[in-house]
Amino acid sequence: MADITKTMLRPRVVIVGGGFGGLTVAQGLANAPVDLTVVDQHNYHLFQPLLYQVATAALSPADIASPIRAILRRQCNTSVMLATVTGIDATRREVVSGERRIPFDYLVLATGAQHAYFGHDGWEAHAKGIKKIDDATFLRRKILLAFERAELETDPEERNRLLTFVVVGGGATGVEIAGAMAELACKALASDFRVIDPAHARIILVEAGPRLLPTFHEHLSKAARHSLEALGVEVRLSTTVTGCDEAGVSSGTGRIEARTVVWGAGVQASRAGEWLQAETDRVGRVKVAPDLSAPGHANIFVIGDTAHVLGMDGKPLPGVAPVAKQEGKYIAKLIRARIAGREHPPFRYRDPGSLATIGRKQAVVQFGRVRLSGYLAWWLWSLVHIYFLIGFRNRLVVAMNWAWTYASFQRGTRLITGPDPETGEKEPSSVMAVLPRGAT
Ligand SMILES: Cc1cc2nc3c(=O)[nH]c(=O)nc-3n(C[C@H](O)[C@H](O)[C@H](O)COP(=O)(O)OP(=O)(O)OC[C@H]3O[C@@H](n4cnc5c(N)ncnc54)[C@H](O)[C@@H]3O)c2cc1C
Repeated sequence: MADITKTMLRPRVVIVGGGFGGLTVAQGLANAPVDLTVVDQHNYHLFQPLLYQVATAALSPADIASPIRAILRRQCNTSVMLATVTGIDATRREVVSGERRIPFDYLVLATGAQHAYFGHDGWEAHAKGIKKIDDATFLRRKILLAFERAELETDPEERNRLLTFVVVGGGATGVEIAGAMAELACKALASDFRVIDPAHARIILVEAGPRLLPTFHEHLSKAARHSLEALGVEVRLSTTVTGCDEAGVSSGTGRIEARTVVWGAGVQASRAGEWLQAETDRVGRVKVAPDLSAPGHANIFVIGDTAHVLGMDGKPLPGVAPVAKQEGKYIAKLIRARIAGREHPPFRYRDPGSLATIGRKQAVVQFGRVRLSGYLAWWLWSLVHIYFLIGFRNRLVVAMNWAWTYASFQRGTRLITGPDPETGEKEPSSVMAVLPRGAT
């Protein structure tokens, strides 16, 4: 049992968000002389970089998520709270979650980001993004049902619409999901249908800018484009989407009729800026001080996708996992230093490089001046992702799944479950859910 006198004297640290940033702070404060509370609206930490593999039936949700309680169970100074934070009372130093108030001496806001539709929120109903497990399973359902419906459809125009898939956004998420969808259609589903040929499905990747993967070197953008085209993906650059509806997307260069549109184009930071009434950038990220504290609040820190932090080149750091993790590590050290009455230097980001994969054996990798594409890059991508997954079970299961997919082209989690994405009805209407061969 905890020593009450000791506990009452210890600073209370509250972390909101058990994603990459928040979890790293929590782990960095293991055994620190603090009482730590991690608050998250979900009971699990999610490895978002592999969400697209859940959406394309390569992995199950449980393979890329772990309960936060289980991850932190050995930290005696830490408790976990399943709650949705609705505000911050900075004056009283309390986190607000509905009626509940959670007092803090130090607060870390690591609440991430969500999709943004550039002011066209109505598009969301027709162009789903992937940020949460529910988004990924919704998309998996939608993609698999499109093939099932096409198999039963007698109108050729509607069948074409069902077999056309548009991915909006040529960043890493868009590139990865387009490649995975092409492989699903051309390899995993290729011989499962009798009326349609899934290999004739069109996967169209639409990007407003002049090249894919704009944060990578131009040479790697070209390599990614060639790899996607080799898989059969149609890449449309310099094409700005001007509308999304139930039958497709409109763009500056014309209309694409499609029943499935995947959104990977924009993000908006969480509401932390609103809660603190702090200055934010155009995507809502809080403009933090060099020690990542919110302006005017020396004991409140904002990190990860919710923070606007400038890199050495004067540009804002990107919303990627290494940024969130390095910031989390920094804050844990800073809180330890403050408690010990020591100074701590400002935050500095060290870029460990960028990776993106295209299908099951191509990738692009950029580590400083080292640039790789192709098979070797894919091996590196795989090793890095397995290494950073949390938990031995998840690492093992994902590695085995990939080995199986690599050898057999099959995707083991092609289950259609949950309500119909079109009608919201409990069972998909006009289509019987069919368990494919080899489904687990
Ligand atoms: C599909 C996809 C692919 C990606 N691929 C890559 C990649 O290949 N490489 C890479 O480096 N990065 C990738 N990223 C980006 C990376 O996942 C993020 O940069 C990273 O997750 C940010 O970490 P974070 O801690 O700021 O937020 P998150 O990891 O998003 O965690 C935020 C946490 O806060 C919780 N939360 C939010 N609001 C509340 C609230 N009000 N109350 C309580 N809890 C709340 C959430 O439940 C969540 O657990 C990808 C992201 C996505 C969506």
